[in-house]
Amino acid sequence: MATAHRVRSAGVRILRGGAFKPRSSPYSFQGLGREALRLLARARNETGLAIVTEVMAPEDVPLVAEYADILQIGSRSMENFALLAAAAQSGRPMMLKRGLVATISGYLRSAQFVLENGNSNIILCERGIRTFDDTLRNTFDAAGIALLKQITHLPVIADPSHACGHRELVPLLARIGLAAGADGIIVEVHPDPDKALSDGEQSLDFAAFDAMMADLEPWIALRKQSLVGVESAAVQAMEAVG
Ligand code: PEP
Ligand code: MN
Repeated sequence: MATAHRVRSAGVRILRGGAFKPRSSPYSFQGLGREALRLLARARNETGLAIVTEVMAPEDVPLVAEYADILQIGSRSMENFALLAAAAQSGRPMMLKRGLVATISGYLRSAQFVLENGNSNIILCERGIRTFDDTLRNTFDAAGIALLKQITHLPVIADPSHACGHRELVPLLARIGLAAGADGIIVEVHPDPDKALSDGEQSLDFAAFDAMMADLEPWIALRKQSLVGVESAAVQAMEAVG
């Protein structure tokens, strides 16, 4: 709740919290399930933030869709087609994260699968991919963001937290994501990251989050300018063809 209030006052619009969490280890915190969904609903009521949260199994879709404004399909589920179909058919907007080892074309096939199931409200999310270099948690594919913006009409957001796994690098990768054309960023924030039950090493505390948001202002302004450019180019092109 503390995080919800704090990020709201910094201009954030959407809150992501994991209720059902796919963890790489069976010994990691697995999420609080339904109880966490209730907490997310409380955060929405108190702050007005929209809620995005992950759904991991087709049979959980009705429950999660009851609480969430946007259904997250996590990286590990990008090719779970039964889940994609069930989530798509719920009618809720979906945030489809790129698979850990998904090519851009494989990623777009999953997005297409959602579209074919009647849901066109898809947000794409580049969250880093596995490469030979394991120095950081993942390799942030900024070129992938630029390409997705060029070849799809879908909104694309960047997840610098999961991409690098280190809180010190998150603000820098957030900038890169925006510069590459991302429509938004998703960032992990915690009042006391060293005590977080999940992903504390990549979470920003409130001071670091505020500093990042202030630092991003000129980058967001540039991003808006480039959008105006794109829109006016599109208008000119349409006028040219009558
Ligand atoms: C998350 O957003 O918390 C998450 C589990 O991300 P990913 O699916 O990208 O690993
Ligand atoms: Mn996480």
